[in-house]
Amino acid sequence: MSVTRDLVLEQLKTVLNPLNGKDIVSAGMVKALTVDEGVVRFVLEIDPARAKAMEAARAEAETKIKALGATSVSIVMTAHAAAPPPPDLKGGGHGHAHGAAKATGPEKIPGVDRIIAIASGKGGVGKSTVAANLATALAAEGRRVGLLDADVYGPSQHRMLGITGRPASPDGKTILPLRNHGVTLMSLGLMTQEDEAVVWRGPMLMGALQQMLFQVQWGALDILIVDLPPGTGDVQMTLTQKAQVDGAIIVSTPQDIALLDARKGIDMFNKMNTPIIGLIENMSTHICSNCGHIEHIFGHGGVTKEAKKLGAPLLAEIPLHIDIRTTSDGGAPIVVSRSNSEQAEIFRTLARHLIATGQA
Ligand code: ADP
Repeated sequence: MSVTRDLVLEQLKTVLNPLNGKDIVSAGMVKALTVDEGVVRFVLEIDPARAKAMEAARAEAETKIKALGATSVSIVMTAHAAAPPPPDLKGGGHGHAHGAAKATGPEKIPGVDRIIAIASGKGGVGKSTVAANLATALAAEGRRVGLLDADVYGPSQHRMLGITGRPASPDGKTILPLRNHGVTLMSLGLMTQEDEAVVWRGPMLMGALQQMLFQVQWGALDILIVDLPPGTGDVQMTLTQKAQVDGAIIVSTPQDIALLDARKGIDMFNKMNTPIIGLIENMSTHICSNCGHIEHIFGHGGVTKEAKKLGAPLLAEIPLHIDIRTTSDGGAPIVVSRSNSEQAEIFRTLARHLIATGQA
């Protein structure tokens, strides 16, 4: 039996908040629930002072969802208290005035020229892989590049870029990001222990995103790439509402189902007035690492067709190739570790195109 959203909600309604005896669904504590091919993710909003008490409820929810046959359950506990406003880092001379919209509308991040979001309809399509390779390819072309891993459910950029350690905060207000392969990185993955259930006791999830945007000392950047979580949730909304995003790139595999989801993402960015820079077809073909034979495992050209329909450019077709995976797993994306390979060349061409068209 496959796990559905309704089945998950039904189970979650049997989990009680120990603090008031109400079930966690009726109490409005379950946010951003997604159920995708057996992978269940949601945010549990809690009182940060009672995080310990809520851990039992989190564990109970996880056990009950697993019993439904879910292959993976990711529950992020966040505080529901409002985040403190980020400090004003602008100083003199930085930033643009946005008139009346300035207080609440999207703002420019001081020192950051442009922001590109990398989005996908669903998880596992290679969005993070594309973000890491595009970031390193832009750096190789001499751009000053930052990468913000906003995939709050499963941050992976620190691993892909081979970065360990924790960002320092010498003044207790701003955060110093870490750097490797010419890319300045900030990720929630750097703030939490590996394999640790994420509990943000301080600011809530959206506050954490806002902090990563505005309280990190990005320095002077030509381009900040934001690796979004899959889908069209609160993180996407918060990003486009708080920061001036210059464009979005949507990554998809050729499968129809992935395309359907990508379309939702496109609609969302249109609504948020964020221009779509284009689409990328990942896992476009499979190239056998032994014999070079090419196969269209997930079908081929589906994203091209969709891009045409939408009037958005198809920016790249990236093959499924084992080196793309192993290099990222090893902490040095293929653009860095096999810079002369055909696969790296695809990302480098993409980077050059974005620079030539003034988009990066
Ligand atoms: P997402 O960010 O969309 O969840 P990831 O970038 O984490 O996806 O990719 C999921 C898995 O697929 C990772 O193990 C990654 O190394 C692998 N992968 C992604 N793109 C390719 C590709 N073109 N060829 C081989 N493996 C890939």
